[in-house]
Amino acid sequence: IKAQYAQLKDLPAKTLDGIEVSLSINAGLLFDFDQIETTGANGVGLYRTEVPFMVRAEFPDVPAQRTLYEKVLDRANGKPVVFRTIDVGGDKVLPYWGELDEENPAMGWRAIRICLDRPAILRQQLRALIQAAQGRDIHVMFPMIAEVEEFDAAKKLLQRELDREKERGGILPEHVYTGVMLEVPALALQLDKLLKRVDFVSVGSNDLMQFLYATDRGNAHVSERYDILSPFALGFLKSVRDRCDQANVPVSVCGAAAGNPLEAMALVGIGFRRLSMPPPALGPVKEMIRSMSERQVAQFVHSVLEIPRVSIRPRLKAFAKDHG
Ligand code: PEP
Ligand code: MG
Repeated sequence: IKAQYAQLKDLPAKTLDGIEVSLSINAGLLFDFDQIETTGANGVGLYRTEVPFMVRAEFPDVPAQRTLYEKVLDRANGKPVVFRTIDVGGDKVLPYWGELDEENPAMGWRAIRICLDRPAILRQQLRALIQAAQGRDIHVMFPMIAEVEEFDAAKKLLQRELDREKERGGILPEHVYTGVMLEVPALALQLDKLLKRVDFVSVGSNDLMQFLYATDRGNAHVSERYDILSPFALGFLKSVRDRCDQANVPVSVCGAAAGNPLEAMALVGIGFRRLSMPPPALGPVKEMIRSMSERQVAQFVHSVLEIPRVSIRPRLKAFAKDHG
């Protein structure tokens, strides 16, 4: 981490007009957790638990997972860690599982879909996490939820593991917060029902943009055709944010957009107050937030939301330049 950003570590991510934004990091491997301290992050907004599964030679059993999650919680030192349950399939393959031979893996058998069809995988993971917590709070987030019923089913598996641990006489976590990744557009159209059930929502803008625009997130030919910095996409995200706010459900963004200063500026402008990003992005995003006026950005972003354009990136860039 550059010295210039290290200095910002203990300073709040507060705009010039006093709006505080909570910045967290995304993590995958154990060493990422040391970055909570070095960046001064509020916690881990997205722990991609499939990453340690991907770098192993075989599927880790419950004791191995438990040991890992214990270390994770220890290193977080009381700061919240959002455990995203295993999200394999799509662009994340487990070498020891073999190829699935799917025509559209991103839209195929992946993430929660695998876990609900093969519940032992999810149950073991949740069991390991509950045991690792030893009474500490846990945050569990389910990926690729497309229907409210899938969230209910996943939460039921979590409850079964909590009941099991109780019967065993184990110590239960003090609080168990359950939430979803909002990354399938269908779920965004079911917020009424969803928001009554979840403790938090995190927008996975990578997959959400991919599915919203039917554009492969890894395909360079289409990567510049649609932009999250468009009136439509920002308006859509704003409507999600407003609905969560009305329901009093904390909402964050943990996709790549949250880690780019320009995108992060726009996200704050449409009302997001929680962002989670790769550790090296935290300093630059914090610096941007500390130099912006929320009121001015919000005013500007709302004024351009009315223009029918594929991208308002150049306008936002010019605005950012004009305003330091
Ligand atoms: C996302 O989809 O935006 C996300 C954060 O998850 P991943 O990139 O791991 O799919
Ligand atoms: Mg995703």
